[in-house]
Amino acid sequence: MKKPLGLYVHIPFCARKCAYCDFASFAGREGDMAAYVNCLIAEMEKRALPNRQISTLYIGGGTPSLLPPELMARVLSALRRHFDFTQDAECSCECNPGTVTEEFLRVLKNGGVNRLSFGAQARQEHLLRLLGRIHTWAQVEEGVRLARACGFENLNLDLMLGLPAQTVQNVRDTLSAALSLSPTHLSCYGLIVEEGTKMQAMVESGQWPLPDEDTEREMYELCRETLAQHGFAQYEISNFALPGYACRHNADCWRREEYLGLGSAACGFLGNIRYQNPPALSDYLAHCPAQETVLSPEDAQFESVMLGLRMTEGVSEEAFLRMHGVSLQSVYGEKLKKPLAQGLVEWKDGFLRLTRRGMDVQNSVLVELL
Ligand code: SF4
Repeated sequence: MKKPLGLYVHIPFCARKCAYCDFASFAGREGDMAAYVNCLIAEMEKRALPNRQISTLYIGGGTPSLLPPELMARVLSALRRHFDFTQDAECSCECNPGTVTEEFLRVLKNGGVNRLSFGAQARQEHLLRLLGRIHTWAQVEEGVRLARACGFENLNLDLMLGLPAQTVQNVRDTLSAALSLSPTHLSCYGLIVEEGTKMQAMVESGQWPLPDEDTEREMYELCRETLAQHGFAQYEISNFALPGYACRHNADCWRREEYLGLGSAACGFLGNIRYQNPPALSDYLAHCPAQETVLSPEDAQFESVMLGLRMTEGVSEEAFLRMHGVSLQSVYGEKLKKPLAQGLVEWKDGFLRLTRRGMDVQNSVLVELL
């Protein structure tokens, strides 16, 4: 049996740059799309691994749904040509409401995509406008309706918390509107104010005041409680799924399984090497090489803990031993004494995991372990 492998494909084009976004995404570069797809296909040829099978595919961005359907069809058929997919591969594609068309969704369906993720963010139009999103909530509803009509059953909605001017009641209304669309998965992300973004300038100038820490925590707790009441299990800090619908691609990344990344800014991880393709579109189009980092055993062990503790299941002792040839206890036993005594981490059924309290102060736990 071939060893499974994840695959990430980055589509860096966006209709407009959102106010909070520092992702490698570009507006107004539609003219580069065809050349970009050619480069992607060339990279598939270069990185194809005939002895591995793709168990998860994630097409992210940017806005993959901005790609014209014929270009997305080329990407999907080239992926199938260059990679061997498992029978039950999870194949996700990010879609932005306001850009999805029935034709595009049918191309995804025919190309083997079986999971869609919509960047819905918030029910309130004033918040969507503040974020610089191009869509309305009515377009979220229409996107989901179209997706269902095209046969997609596994749908995620991304929601945002801690936005300027957002209230707890706004979050309640957003959750209720999102749940009425019957998603299988919800991601509830706290806003991170990134350097150099319009969001940072507006927050720092005082024009867009952020909710205080207690209010933001209340929003997060509201998500946890409401989603639990609706049968969603939290499996990662920001991610909730109905039974059987956790995103396998992301869970594998947090379990530090290997994956290939294709496209500008895409990262990949194989053996003890992590690589990142050039983030600038022009560099990627000029076939500039990826940057590679060789991980030391200590870096690799810390990665396992840092990523694994994001998940509610935690870090598997057995997987750690298999991956690194040493036990989790022998590497971190001493450093774990303090967070264990403080009730921030616990051992449970062969896993090291954060407690509920530890989840709130995850960064300080990681500092202890560094
Ligand atoms: S749609 Fe996503 S990737 Fe594009 S600008 Fe907005 S946040 Fe960034």
